[in-house]
Amino acid sequence: MHHNQRPLVVALAGNPNSGKTTIFNNLTGANQHVGNYPGVTVEKKEGNFTFQGRHIRLIDLPGTYSLSAYSIEEIIARNFIIEDRPDVVIDIVDASNIERNLYLTTQLLELGIPVIIALNMSDMARNRGMITDEKVLSQLLAVPVVQTVGHKRQGMDELLQATIELVGNKDAYEPALVNYNKEFEEELNRLTQQFEEHRIAFDNYRPRWVALKLLEDDAEIKKYIARQTNGPKIIETAEEGRGRIESLFGDSPATVISDRRYGFISGACSEATTLTAHHRHDVSDKIDMALIHPILGLPIFAFLMWLMFNLTFTLGEKPMEWIEAGVAGLSDLMIAILPEGLLSSLIVDGIIGGVGGVIVFLPNIMLLFLVIAILEDTGYMARAAFVMDRIMHKIGLHGKSFIPMLIGFGCTVPALMSSRILEDKTDRLVTMHVTNFMSCGARLPVYILICGAFWPQHAGNVVFSIYALGVITAIAMIKLLRSTRFKGMSAPFIMELPPYRVPTLRSLVIHMWERSWLYLRKAGTIILGISIIMWFLMTFPMKSEFDKDYDALAEAATQSYQSGQITAKEQEQLIASYEGTKAAENIEHSFAGRIGKLIEPIIQPLGLDWRLGIALFAGFAAKEVVVSTMGTIYGVGEVDEESSSLRQKLASDPKYSPLIAYSFLVFILLYMPCMAAMAVFLRESGSVRELLFQVGYTTALAWFMAFVVFQGGKLLGLD
Ligand code: GDP
Ligand code: MG
Repeated sequence: MHHNQRPLVVALAGNPNSGKTTIFNNLTGANQHVGNYPGVTVEKKEGNFTFQGRHIRLIDLPGTYSLSAYSIEEIIARNFIIEDRPDVVIDIVDASNIERNLYLTTQLLELGIPVIIALNMSDMARNRGMITDEKVLSQLLAVPVVQTVGHKRQGMDELLQATIELVGNKDAYEPALVNYNKEFEEELNRLTQQFEEHRIAFDNYRPRWVALKLLEDDAEIKKYIARQTNGPKIIETAEEGRGRIESLFGDSPATVISDRRYGFISGACSEATTLTAHHRHDVSDKIDMALIHPILGLPIFAFLMWLMFNLTFTLGEKPMEWIEAGVAGLSDLMIAILPEGLLSSLIVDGIIGGVGGVIVFLPNIMLLFLVIAILEDTGYMARAAFVMDRIMHKIGLHGKSFIPMLIGFGCTVPALMSSRILEDKTDRLVTMHVTNFMSCGARLPVYILICGAFWPQHAGNVVFSIYALGVITAIAMIKLLRSTRFKGMSAPFIMELPPYRVPTLRSLVIHMWERSWLYLRKAGTIILGISIIMWFLMTFPMKSEFDKDYDALAEAATQSYQSGQITAKEQEQLIASYEGTKAAENIEHSFAGRIGKLIEPIIQPLGLDWRLGIALFAGFAAKEVVVSTMGTIYGVGEVDEESSSLRQKLASDPKYSPLIAYSFLVFILLYMPCMAAMAVFLRESGSVRELLFQVGYTTALAWFMAFVVFQGGKLLGLD
């Protein structure tokens, strides 16, 4: 039936002593032919046989640990794979030494050639107490895996069977690839784009692989590229990229590459291999025994997060006060320079109040991002993702979805965009629907303000509780969505476990700064714009008829002072309170006040009043504006220095209590994403219906949870 088909070309690759020749002999029997690879004295063994009527030509490649260009064996093996394009490469892996052997595997996968893994020496592995689940490994790497015992001829038919099947499904073949982290992948993209620009075509190479080799400084590939038109330009780009990687990671690109590959392998083996008796001795492994421990892993993660928020809070306190003082000074200066009136109000209350109110939190934001950068660069975040992956998996979501969720701690917009790494549309949608609960950096200022006002001693703990509530809500919603609107399970995937390393200062600073800069830039653009709009809404229409004639009252206070009836301080306080009440009446009368009043009946059961309603309304535009809007609502007409901070104003307002504050925080945490995030949500989901669902259910949930907090708290007598 198949006799007129061309023979299948199958190559055996693997580390030296993995059992290649043994398996080669098993399969070919006496039918062998020994020659040399052209031009070199390396032995080339070939054999021919038929299996299920299919003619197979088998080649035993030289044993190698890697596919770089360091030795003649490596060059021969990889050139054979690239140039002769065998139909299948059978990768013989010594299962008793699986992590080192899979290093070659990661590179075979990158070549894009169909690979089958033979887990050979599985008898030895078992004796050493290592059991690898070939099904799990196969799912993780997305390639067939067969257990074999070479010298006992076990698994040979299964290997050939898998070969035939793989050839039949060639089009569906899509192996798992090592992800070399953001900056590195950017360099790879830069190079592959240049290949396209300069029309460098590769008959056999994959562009991504060539780019990787250029960054690795592979002599052979450099020679190959140098021969192309515009090749030198590309080599120059690669050199620049190598420089950037080197200065960012403090290591050569080759080291970075191998670290990531081992991380990938380590992650795969942590899932697929169980150790019974075998003693692990690697330092990384020892630390991992604690950090990714099935029981301890989660509390350790929670503790580190708790520490992070407390540090952010305590260390950020002082610099925050300095900036606060600076902003207040600038306001005072403007008040002094500008004639009293609308312009002064716009600049002081609208612009300085709005943008300043956001910039005040820069130290906290920078600290948070610094700690996150440290956790990422040391390799801990990968462990956190690993720990969370187990949970994600149990509740039916792809482990990868924890990555967008982690990014969500920074900002929901990139988090939504990064959900693209999920191939499955359902996984992607579910992830996007819960990203909002991973409290974004813009919400942090609200927490800091409110917690500092109502729980000055325990602010860090309360902030932590809010973040934790967000994560728990996200997980609960995944479970709920998965069992209702989005049914089904998803495929497993490798969480990479890179080796631990001491981060370079440069990389920490860059990572921290990149994100902080986004925050600052937003303050100078979007936030500025929204602040001006909010100022307008809070100023107009202007009230002309007030409840009392505050100007006359102020005049009277001045006269009492002049006649010696009250002290200068008392006079000042009186005037401030008249101005404050007048401003409050003005805001109540304004468009914003009317919106707040409109919202009030809805949020009253949550303990919130119309002023907080305005803040929530503003937060719909951008979460940062919640704080600055509150600044304007509570701070207008302020002169008294002692109670000048917004925090003190809130804490001393008789209308508010810690219970109301917490209800407000819960609402802020959960309610609809900001406008920018909605726009991205719409683009990424491509569905108005999903966007409406997102906005609707998050806000409904926020209302419900805040309701439970406030009414429950009242029942418990906490108000
Ligand atoms: P190569 O260097 O990859 O070609 O490895 P060989 O085929 O020469 O095998 C090296 C040694 O391992 C030989 O002594 C084989 O008999 C032995 N060997 C091969 N497969 C297995 C296996 O599955 N289990 C055990 N215990 N030994 C094996
Ligand atoms: Mg051999």
